[in-house]
Amino acid sequence: MSLQIARGRDAKPPLRSVRSKTDLRPQLQEATKAPAPKAPEKRAALRFPVNSKTRAFYKTFYPGTSTIEWNNWRWQMRARIRSLEELGRVFRLSADEYDAVARHKGSLPVGITPYYASLMDLKDPSEPLRRTHITTGGEYVRTPGEDNDPLGEDHDTVAPGIVHRYPDRVLFLTTGTCSTYCRYCTRARVVGNPGGEYQFSMKQWEQALAYLEVHTEVRDVLLSGGDPLTIGDDRLDWLLGRLRALKHIEFLRIGTKVPMVLPQRITKNLVSILKKYHPLWMSIHVTHPNELTEETTESTARLADAGIPLGSQTVLMKGINDDIAIMKPLMQGLLKRRVRPYYLYQCDPISGSAHFRTKVEKGLEIIEGLRGHTTGYATPIFAVDAPGGGGKIQIAPDFIAGRDGDDLLLRNFEGGVYRYPDPGGKLGKGKPKLAAE
Ligand code: SF4
Repeated sequence: MSLQIARGRDAKPPLRSVRSKTDLRPQLQEATKAPAPKAPEKRAALRFPVNSKTRAFYKTFYPGTSTIEWNNWRWQMRARIRSLEELGRVFRLSADEYDAVARHKGSLPVGITPYYASLMDLKDPSEPLRRTHITTGGEYVRTPGEDNDPLGEDHDTVAPGIVHRYPDRVLFLTTGTCSTYCRYCTRARVVGNPGGEYQFSMKQWEQALAYLEVHTEVRDVLLSGGDPLTIGDDRLDWLLGRLRALKHIEFLRIGTKVPMVLPQRITKNLVSILKKYHPLWMSIHVTHPNELTEETTESTARLADAGIPLGSQTVLMKGINDDIAIMKPLMQGLLKRRVRPYYLYQCDPISGSAHFRTKVEKGLEIIEGLRGHTTGYATPIFAVDAPGGGGKIQIAPDFIAGRDGDDLLLRNFEGGVYRYPDPGGKLGKGKPKLAAE
């Protein structure tokens, strides 16, 4: 039985143009409410690039679809691949994928924008982007130490959607909707669930804002979700305006995967809204170099041109990106697009994530493979988000080789040991002394 049938939704595949009213979920209605694109919007849609692989894909699987529709983010949202039938129409599913999707119930459903599907391998279930978005049997295997809320966010929730853990900053879970659903999502328990705790609701937003109004120690708000960029322009404008009106909030950040999986969402109108609320920063969730297309070059350029400082966050995953030959071009490709690699995360021990998780030393190996071998700007911070609410803990390779009297011995990226005069220092004492040149 498909996911959509299980939830009583329309299971028809979007064989041709996808029109509105195919989906009745409230938060999706928000994305579909807007009227048909007006002339300038149509011209803008035509100006958005479509890479050749993606063009061939949509001509095959969405044959009646115009470029204007394809480049309309609301169309992409409505046409998301969300059922077994739709998956089967596009992908050659393995038996494992088929069974795992059929078994799924509850939050974190399958959801893939047609654009993002066009970047995946349609036949090979081991292809990285596909593995991160189509359910497999591994999700049903629970291993020790895993949890549905591994970071203890529910415990630190002080108002609807507000997680207040650190002294001067909060996480604001603005919506439970994403354009695509990642199988390793830390918030698997709350995203994509029509009845979920963090679905969009003005009443909840008002309660969250009321909390922030009185907590004047909060100077930094990270808007996340779900994905805040799935919220329509008017509501996002309203929310950012209300936050910006709070004088003690100095700094707004948006955490999003949209520029990579739904780049068409980065419209001129959205950018003009975001620009009003500087200083506004953005952390873009990026997984693999295959995401670096003409479309994502355009989406990141539009954001960077609007003066929005862009950082990336990447989850380290087994068989997906746990190889320096993948990670280095990813980080360098981001820099070329004016996105500063910010965090490389050890995969959180969310329930059913063992098939994605690497050993922690793999992250150190990746950082060692970047540090000194490419520009420092391309080297992110490797961090473990400590289970139980401990927060992010940076883990870095140890470049201290020891001490020789007043000299600190340091190891460089090639393994050479060098002396630094450090009279009276203690750093390096007790380490086995390595020979310095
Ligand atoms: S986009 Fe972010 S919040 Fe949404 S499923 Fe992926 S990781 Fe989770």
